[in-house]
Amino acid sequence: MKKYLVIAIKWVNVEFIKNEIQSYFNRIMTKQEIDKIRADFPILNQKVYNKQLIYFDNGATTQKPKQVIEAVSNFYSKTNSNIHRGVHFLSEKSTAIYEKSRECVKDFVNAAHVEEIIFTKGTTDGINLIAQVFGEKHFNEGDEVIISEMEHHSNIVPWQLICEKQKAKLKIIPFNDNGELIIEEFDKLLSEKTKIVAVTHVSNSLGTINPIKKIIKKARKFNVPVLIDAAQSIQHFKIDVQELDCDFLVFSGHKIYAETGIGVLYGKKKLLENLPPYQGGGDMIKTVDFEKTTYADLPLKYEAGTNNFVGAISLMVAINYIQTVGFDKIIEHETQLFNYATKKLSSIEGLKIIGTAKNKASVISFVLENIHNYDVGTLLDKMGMALRTGTHCTQPVMKHFNISGTIRASFSFYNTLEEIDLLYNAILRIKNLF
Ligand code: PMP
Repeated sequence: MKKYLVIAIKWVNVEFIKNEIQSYFNRIMTKQEIDKIRADFPILNQKVYNKQLIYFDNGATTQKPKQVIEAVSNFYSKTNSNIHRGVHFLSEKSTAIYEKSRECVKDFVNAAHVEEIIFTKGTTDGINLIAQVFGEKHFNEGDEVIISEMEHHSNIVPWQLICEKQKAKLKIIPFNDNGELIIEEFDKLLSEKTKIVAVTHVSNSLGTINPIKKIIKKARKFNVPVLIDAAQSIQHFKIDVQELDCDFLVFSGHKIYAETGIGVLYGKKKLLENLPPYQGGGDMIKTVDFEKTTYADLPLKYEAGTNNFVGAISLMVAINYIQTVGFDKIIEHETQLFNYATKKLSSIEGLKIIGTAKNKASVISFVLENIHNYDVGTLLDKMGMALRTGTHCTQPVMKHFNISGTIRASFSFYNTLEEIDLLYNAILRIKNLF
């Protein structure tokens, strides 16, 4: 009996190991796969200053696959017509594709209802929308809003504006010198006065992946809604809004391989239904009379005027594209790039990585001793490399580290290990120049 048990355990283990190995090989991208992906992004295949372009500024905006570029061009060539406004063939077709894009986003983030997906101009627009309508309805003198020290200006200023108007206060969750939120401090800030919590999922300047599930759970105990800024996470890993149980989530199309000027606000239906409208105009009304106007139901209540319907379509195509590549492969490849770059860059004397959290996305911010970040960025540019320099719209983060800015490399699944080697060599050359 024991003998058979041992054989069975061994067999199970062998099967388990075999499955693990198989799943690893399914996840890694082969050279052919990366070449094929890169061929989809025409912009990557060019020289700047006679050097092969290396694009490491994906945190600022991502490049577009030809599938997205062609879909936009085809739409304008064959289908273009305003949405929700006509009975004619083209208008109905445009409307149908626009609403299909909404369905696609709903499935992508696993929202419970399609009405929970509002098309916006981008992350900034979505945060301003919620800050204004939620703040106007719920903030009173002395109420509090909790954000974190690592927020992008887009998740600071809209809250400051509404807090000033309603005489509410902004409370800040600090981070430690690794760039990790100090959760015990969040515990101390949460109270009956808290009206909303708004935090970023991934920091654009530190790369930290925040424990948003934990934050949401804690806020839930006080019945406080949570807004997640997913501008830097939606393109890197699968997000399930129902599993997270977040109340609002925002992101920008241009950071997830779609066009500029389109974004998404996800909001729980019950919450959005009970909030006032934001902007007034066409599409967001049911009836208009000089005495009284009634408003459209969700999602159109928050889509005043002619929305960027072509952008929404580009977002659907971009989502389909990354789903074809597959998040398993994207995560594996980007992790490989990130680990390799972290190891290589930190081996350079005088280079300091800013943001050393345990849990990071594929973003590396760094400074070089005695060389200004703009000088590094300018020299890298002349070598054909696009990296972001400066404060990355996170001045409080720079203040925390007492620095004027950083150089930031942010990776996408179309980047390669060879490109990181070239960055490493370029930094060594810059060091030698100074
Ligand atoms: N939040 C984060 C974390 C970001 O990285 C950005 C863009 N850098 C934004 C908000 C603002 O995004 P957008 O400019 O597309 O509105």
